[in-house]
Amino acid sequence: MPTPTEAQLRADIVEVGRRLYARGYTASNDGNISVRLDGERLLMTPTSVCKGFMSVEMMCITDLDGTKIAGDRNPSSEMKMHLEVYRQRPDVKAVVHAHPPIATGFAVAGIPLDRAVLAEVVTTLGSVPIAEYATPSTAELPASVRKYVKAHDGILLANHGALTMGPDLYGAYYKMETIEHFAKISLVARMLGGERLLSREEVGRLETLRGSYGIASPAPICPEPSGADPLDCQVVLSPSAPAGQRLVRESDGGEIRLTYSELTALIEDAVRSLK
Ligand SMILES: [Zn+2]
Repeated sequence: MPTPTEAQLRADIVEVGRRLYARGYTASNDGNISVRLDGERLLMTPTSVCKGFMSVEMMCITDLDGTKIAGDRNPSSEMKMHLEVYRQRPDVKAVVHAHPPIATGFAVAGIPLDRAVLAEVVTTLGSVPIAEYATPSTAELPASVRKYVKAHDGILLANHGALTMGPDLYGAYYKMETIEHFAKISLVARMLGGERLLSREEVGRLETLRGSYGIASPAPICPEPSGADPLDCQVVLSPSAPAGQRLVRESDGGEIRLTYSELTALIEDAVRSLK
């Protein structure tokens, strides 16, 4: 596919903003959208404009540190979060942030969207964790998403909203749609008595399918059975996360990093010691 021109990317940001607003994923001036123009520059939405009514000349151009290079308006302070994504994920070309109400409801309730229940979510997005609350516009915000960015293409932001990333603008936008759709279905399923999880076997089959869609599978998306409930499977990695990505878990205020097999072995040891 030919690289889109700057004019095309400006038009695409306007269209993605219009869709976010039309679908109620943003209210008033909420949300922001950005895309890589080349190796050194980003094109992004300006601060304090409604994403539903933007025009192509409103966008600003910054370097990868967020310093403005061109544009009459200033970039949003929430862009620090986007910069963190671009720093850590060379494969990501575009980032979208919005406050879709059902997914944000899960983020407010502290419930991650991490259950293996929908085949298309397992194959295209993986699980959606919640990054700890951080004051919007501060340096806390990029710090809170930092540890999730490498392994996930979609992240809920506690008491705030959602963040998605992709290989192009529409790819990042569609992931926001998928998260909100997934949240709606999860909410209804919980109202009706709770989700029935996909089996490990089925999740394994879906992992193989990712390959036939041309999506590289970096690691098992479901840890090997450990003697626990065979239905208890959580999808952990996004399909585009870099190979060898490790799980991150908090422990006693410090951070420990585990591979899947290390984590599985730890759980097996714990279960054995309880017997
Ligand atoms: Zn926000």
